[in-house]
Amino acid sequence: MMHAFQLSFALAMAALQPALPGDAPALDFPVECVVGESCLIQKLFDHDPGPGRHDYRCGLLTTNGHDGVDIRLRTMADMRTGFAVIAAAPGTVLRTRDGEPDRSVDDHAVLDGKDAGNAVVIDHGGGWQTQYSHLRQGSIGVRPGQRVGSGERIGLIGLSGNTEFPHLHFTVRHRGEAVDPFIGNVAPSPCNDKAQATGLWTPAAARLLRYQPSVVITGGLASTVPPRAVAERDPPPGLAGQQAPLILWVDTIGARAGDRQHFSITGPDGQVVHEQELLVEGGGLSWFAYSGKRAPATGWPKGRYTGRYLLKRGGTNVAAIETSETIK
Ligand SMILES: [Zn+2]
Repeated sequence: MMHAFQLSFALAMAALQPALPGDAPALDFPVECVVGESCLIQKLFDHDPGPGRHDYRCGLLTTNGHDGVDIRLRTMADMRTGFAVIAAAPGTVLRTRDGEPDRSVDDHAVLDGKDAGNAVVIDHGGGWQTQYSHLRQGSIGVRPGQRVGSGERIGLIGLSGNTEFPHLHFTVRHRGEAVDPFIGNVAPSPCNDKAQATGLWTPAAARLLRYQPSVVITGGLASTVPPRAVAERDPPPGLAGQQAPLILWVDTIGARAGDRQHFSITGPDGQVVHEQELLVEGGGLSWFAYSGKRAPATGWPKGRYTGRYLLKRGGTNVAAIETSETIK
């Protein structure tokens, strides 16, 4: 029999516990890629019920109403290489759709309500489902009714449906409601910059998904400013020759107004041939920036050029990239 003291203690402990997500599945990271190397986290779940947006850390790595996590590849070439999308937890395949072409919505693709593109929905029981969207055409290797284990390959990252860059849109639902996998189906606590939520993720997945407020997606040296949408999907070829301009361009996630960007280009002999510091004026989810210089009258010397970009916030370097090209 429990003493009154023990009972009240137990009740007090129960009150201290957050509501448990019940039979929520533990989620593995759903792509065979290395975050920060072969893939990046572009967007998180939007916790702002109104027209604004904020992710689980009160950052701006989301768009209004975004109901999942976007795991992106850096380029179209990476998509063609093929990165496997895997089941985040054991379950039964509920639905699949394939046959949608891989093309950017920038290219006036007609979606016809098929915003998810090629997709797989897996049922994990207890009202929990995961959905894997924008998969590569013809890549889906599972069928409805099939049992899948955690980590089992179900398709490849693609560019089908409502997307401008190759990525997996990963949605978790509980009884039909989208849930932020970084939180689970408990009320999100007030934003705490220092906390690192693990939510429904396995410890290994949570480590991979460490919150990164700013990261460079890609960048390069070019002779003309590449159209942003093209740069975002397929970096343009490098340098045209000795008489062409020398431009360092970058595409960044999570730059903030007031950040300082340092651009520098060094020539074949290691000398700095161009240097500029530019303030980030807009910033936000995506930030495309460039800086460059016309060729000198005598032309650029032949050889290898290296561009370096550094994004600074206060006294801290928050993102960087180094990229090289040769003038032949
Ligand atoms: Zn998305």
